[in-house]
Amino acid sequence: MPQLGFGVFQVPDAEATAAVETALAAGYRSIDTAAVYENETGTGKALTGSGIARDELFVTTKLWNSASRSWTRDAVLRELDASLERLGLDHVDLYLIHWPRAVRDDYLSIWRAFEEIAESGRARAIGVSNFQPAHLERLLAETSVVPAVNQIELHPFLAQSELRAFHARHGITTEAWAPLGQGKELLSTPVIAGIAEKHGRTPAQIVLRWHLQLGHVAIPKSVTPSRIRENFDVFGFGLDDEDMTAIAALDSGTRLGPDPDEFD
Ligand code: NAD
Repeated sequence: MPQLGFGVFQVPDAEATAAVETALAAGYRSIDTAAVYENETGTGKALTGSGIARDELFVTTKLWNSASRSWTRDAVLRELDASLERLGLDHVDLYLIHWPRAVRDDYLSIWRAFEEIAESGRARAIGVSNFQPAHLERLLAETSVVPAVNQIELHPFLAQSELRAFHARHGITTEAWAPLGQGKELLSTPVIAGIAEKHGRTPAQIVLRWHLQLGHVAIPKSVTPSRIRENFDVFGFGLDDEDMTAIAALDSGTRLGPDPDEFD
């Protein structure tokens, strides 16, 4: 799985093709979408039209395990079929349960259907998103396949030390959503701006380097071609210990998205 990928949350389907084409031209090979983003069709068009060999691409999508459905095994399998049809692909590289929605108490049965999906090859790997340690503990205790990935909200304001340590103990890859803090206060924070000036780089590049150096997978989103390229141009420099320590001190546990223990 490439450590740096491209996310398409909130990109309208009609714009997704151009955004993903720009990302592929810039060098990204990993694309993160989801059924609920309603842009799998536009994303798929860019992927299948790119001429890039399928095995060089890494495509992630997610099951929207919405409260309005009661998930049978067959319904889970049909949901992936529908995503694959929209994407124009015969398999994805990673299929994620989008939220634990623990109040519905069905993520274990969904996961058992995911295990079948992995077995069939229609997803090369299966994982989860927004799972807290308690959800992961239960999954590990009661099912057989360890999630390859947990995609979680993660940026310098929400450094997620407990989850990252849990992942490290169990061989689960940590993937950061909102890696740039959704482009809000984080990028204009003086600590980040100062480190950016010191390295002659942009704040977004500094934050992405922080992710890469901590070993996270990061999937920044943009629809602006210059930013799409800027966010991929992060391999020619490094942050030093002093920079990493200064960024670590920004962790305030502040979430931009919902609390996974409550979201349904
Ligand atoms: P992000 O941290 O990637 O921020 C994206 C925003 O940052 C852009 O809309 C833009 O406003 C700004 N930005 C991007 N590049 C910039 C640059 N170089 N300079 C200045 N500003 C810049 O936030 P995100 O889109 O929420 O997260 C990334 C991806 O993670 C999503 O696209 C999606 O694929 C995934 N995601 C997953 C979940 C989940 O529940 N699993 C939730 C949200 C997002």
